[in-house]
Amino acid sequence: MARAVVIGAGLGGLPAAYELRHHLPKDCDVTLIAGEPQFTFIPGLVQVALGHKPLEHVQQDLHALARRHHLTLVDRAVTAIDPAGRRITVAGGETVDYDQVLIATGAALAFDLIPGLGPHGGHTQSICTPEHALQAREAWQRFLEEPGPLVVGAAPGAGCFGPAYEFLLMADHDLRRRGLRERVPITYVTPEPYVGHLGVSGVKNARELTTQLMAERGIEVIDSMRITAVEPQRLLLENGRALPFGYAMVLPSFRGVSFIRDCPGLGDEKGFIPVDPTMRHPRFESVHAAGVSVKLVQPDPTPIPIGLPKSGQMTEAMATAAAHNIAVEMGALPGPLQVPTLEALCFAEFGPTGIAYIAAPVLPDPETGRRRSSYAVRGPWVVWAKAAFEEYFMLKIRYGAGLPWFERLGLRALFRLRLFRPAPPRQAPQIAGT
Ligand SMILES: Cc1cc2nc3c(=O)[nH]c(=O)nc-3n(C[C@H](O)[C@H](O)[C@H](O)COP(=O)(O)OP(=O)(O)OC[C@H]3O[C@@H](n4cnc5c(N)ncnc54)[C@H](O)[C@@H]3O)c2cc1C
Repeated sequence: MARAVVIGAGLGGLPAAYELRHHLPKDCDVTLIAGEPQFTFIPGLVQVALGHKPLEHVQQDLHALARRHHLTLVDRAVTAIDPAGRRITVAGGETVDYDQVLIATGAALAFDLIPGLGPHGGHTQSICTPEHALQAREAWQRFLEEPGPLVVGAAPGAGCFGPAYEFLLMADHDLRRRGLRERVPITYVTPEPYVGHLGVSGVKNARELTTQLMAERGIEVIDSMRITAVEPQRLLLENGRALPFGYAMVLPSFRGVSFIRDCPGLGDEKGFIPVDPTMRHPRFESVHAAGVSVKLVQPDPTPIPIGLPKSGQMTEAMATAAAHNIAVEMGALPGPLQVPTLEALCFAEFGPTGIAYIAAPVLPDPETGRRRSSYAVRGPWVVWAKAAFEEYFMLKIRYGAGLPWFERLGLRALFRLRLFRPAPPRQAPQIAGT
C-alpha cells in the first residue's frame, strides 16, 4: 500500500495530513507521527501563560482526531530518518517506511546559547510549548502576589517576535486591571533594530504604531541589544547593563529538531530544511517540509542577526502546498504543482487593542527588493478577529479541514492576499533566499 507520512502534528502537520487524506485515494495510507498526544494551537499559549484561558481550550486529542479522519497515528517522536532508504525510526525503535514524507516538526528551542536562559535550569520563562506555558503561568501567579520589575524580550538570532509583544502588552494590561502596574516597571529587550520590526523590515506603519503603543503603556524599549547571560533575577546585556527582574519571559532563538540535525544532508547548519519553491527537498525527492522547520533566509541583514518569522498562516500555506504537491507526485492529482507565495497576515493582540501586520510577501522580490504590499493597522477589531480566528481554527481541526476555499477567498477579499501560485516546471528558481 502506498504511504504518505507527515511528521509533526502542529499547525502545519495536522492540516497537511487532512489535505493528504482528502487528495489521496482510500487505498493509500496517510500516517501522522506525533511527538505529543495532543494537537496544540501554539498562538493560544500566550493567553494560557497569563492565566486567561485553560490549556485544554487550545488543545485537541490526536487519537480521537486520527480515528475520526482516517489517519494512522504513531504517537511517538521520530528519533531518526533515512531519506535515501525512505525509513523513519520512532522512540522505542519501531520503523515506518514511506513513499513521500512531509516534515513539519516546528522548532527546537536554543536556550543553551545563553547561560541561564529558559525554564529548564535557567531563570527565565518561555511560552513556546504547552509545558512552558503552564510553568510560566505558575510563575506569573507567584509574581502577582509579589510584584517587581518585568522584563520581556527575545534572544539574539530569534525569528519569532510577535508572541513576545503579545505577552508584554497583555501582561501590562493585566497588571493595570489588577491595580499593580505602578509597582511593576516593564522593559522590552530585543535584537530587532527597532521596535515593531518583528523580523520583517520596512512594513509601513509597523514601527510608528508599535512605538506609540510602547510609549502609551510606559514601557522602556531596549532595541538592537544582545542578552549575554541570565542570573537569578538579573538579565545581563552586551552593553554591560544588568536588568533586575521579578519575572522575565524571553523567547529563545530556534533551530531544527534533533533528528534533522543528525541526518547528513537533510538540514542546514541549524537543522532547518532547504526546499525548492514547491516545498520539496532539493536532494531528497521524497522529502517535503513546511512551517518553522523550513529554511528561509532573512533577506535584510540587521546589526544583530535575527531570523525571518514563519507565522501560522505562512505555515498553513506551505503545508497545504506541500500536501498538494505530494498528492501530485503520488499520481492522485494532475498538477500543476503549487507554490506558496508566503504572503502573510499576523494578528497581534495587546489587551483592548491589537495590530495586524501584513507582508505580501514576507520575502521581497529578489530582483527589486520590494514587496507587493506591506503595512500594519491598529484597532480593537484585531482582538476580535484573532479570537474569532482561533475558534474557527479549532473547529477546522475538529472537522478535519485544512485550508478550505472560503478561507482563501476571505483572505483575498479582505486583505488582498493570494496564498498560492502554480509552479513553473521543476527547474524553477528557488524561493528567494533559500
Ligand atoms: C507562543 C507563540 C505564539 C505565536 N503566535 C502566533 C500568532 O499569533 N500568529 C501567527 O501567525 N503565528 C504565531 N506563532 C507562530 C506559529 O505558532 C507557528 O508559525 C506555527 O506553530 C508553526 O507550525 P509548525 O507546524 O511548523 O510547528 P508547530 O505548530 O510547533 O508543530 C510542530 C509539531 O511537531 C512535533 N514534533 C517536534 N519534534 C518531533 C519529532 N521528533 N517527532 C514527532 N513530532 C515532533 C511537535 O510536538 C509539534 O506538535 C506563535 C508562536 C509561538 C511560539
